[in-house]
Amino acid sequence: MPIAGRVWINNSTRQANNMLEKSWVESANNPDSEFPLNNLPYGVFSEAGGTSGAEKKRRCCVAIGKHVLDVATLERNGTINLGDPLLQAGNWNPLMAAGPERWQALRDRLKQLLGAGSSERNVCEAAMVDTSNANLYMPFEVCEFTDFYSGKHHATNVGTMFRGPENALPPNWLHMPIGYNGRASSVVVSGTDIIRPQGQLKSPQYENPIFAPSRRFDIELEMGAIVGTASSGPVSVAEADDNIFGYVLLNDWSARDIQAWEYQPLGPFQAKATATSISPWIVTKPALEPFRVSTPPREVPLLKHLQEPGPLLYDIDLSVSLQPASANQPTTLCRTNFSEMYFSPAQQLAHHSSSGCPMRCGDLLGSGTISGAEKHQRGSLLELSWGGKEPLTLDSGETRTFLEDGDTVVLKGKSRGKGYNIGFGSCSGRIMATKV
Ligand code: CA
Repeated sequence: MPIAGRVWINNSTRQANNMLEKSWVESANNPDSEFPLNNLPYGVFSEAGGTSGAEKKRRCCVAIGKHVLDVATLERNGTINLGDPLLQAGNWNPLMAAGPERWQALRDRLKQLLGAGSSERNVCEAAMVDTSNANLYMPFEVCEFTDFYSGKHHATNVGTMFRGPENALPPNWLHMPIGYNGRASSVVVSGTDIIRPQGQLKSPQYENPIFAPSRRFDIELEMGAIVGTASSGPVSVAEADDNIFGYVLLNDWSARDIQAWEYQPLGPFQAKATATSISPWIVTKPALEPFRVSTPPREVPLLKHLQEPGPLLYDIDLSVSLQPASANQPTTLCRTNFSEMYFSPAQQLAHHSSSGCPMRCGDLLGSGTISGAEKHQRGSLLELSWGGKEPLTLDSGETRTFLEDGDTVVLKGKSRGKGYNIGFGSCSGRIMATKV
């Protein structure tokens, strides 16, 4: 249903556009590459082993095939000119704040520079580094972090475990994307070690709470939406979609035992405050445009402020793997898809702003855990091990209910086009023992 001022791409146009765009960077044309010319995700890097101040400096970059392109340098030497210097901060916030016209101007310029037949190949090659020689950092400064709970299979599974199948979904759940305000300070980039949290634990087996390392430390497979354009009052779902700059993979590390004791009546607090990992590449909306899909059919009609004006979700294959310290290979625990979400990021952002809550550039919105209907599609160990009652057997023969020290968890995400992929890279973290 088209809305004023916006034309939603229909399926046939989407399919026609869904082909590899060729680059002179050969590795970008490989059908298995995560970073073809179609993608152009934004990160921040420094040169591994770099000795000079310039090499060690954190700079904005774009992934192309097996390389990163130093766009901060290209802006300084005049190859990229966006009117104002927007790529010099060591994060993408200045461009994010500059609005959709500049977002598009940079993407258009990058396609000129990196597209097959470019006349500016030499100047780009001088600003390229092999990905294997790049240290990656937080791609943007997180302003505030909100985490939603909009995966229906996840909410149903968790609700069934704790309240039984009759009352699995809370009464508000189908009507709005419920969430809580998290901590921006806890968001870390992929590759950051995660220290097992301590906290207050209370078990029916003992009378008083104890303070101890979490015994039920878990993952949550999510996507993160990044707000680019700020708003100062309620925005429509369509405006919310316009205001989103891009997406990352997100792992909301969760201490289930801390949560179980602390959550009533104000919701999660320290259980979710240890760390939230994100992938180092911001995949922008234009790269994902061919993969737009609608949210699932509704059981109850949505109130007007949450109705979808067009397809607002994306078809993104997602996976979770776990590798114990003793194993040589990871075991895939889960394969699911972002299209399983019940509410889209745009609906979440519209709802978030509905009270008049100002939204700012750099706000990060977690989708909520993404699970599918099948057991192998569950995006948390809580669900995969059914509350710890059904241990998983890893390829190495070890079993798991929740995370052990030394475990490395990797999230991956990929949209599949014709002969190309839009990859998100990895979102990884290794569990370290509690510091006592
Ligand atoms: Ca979460």
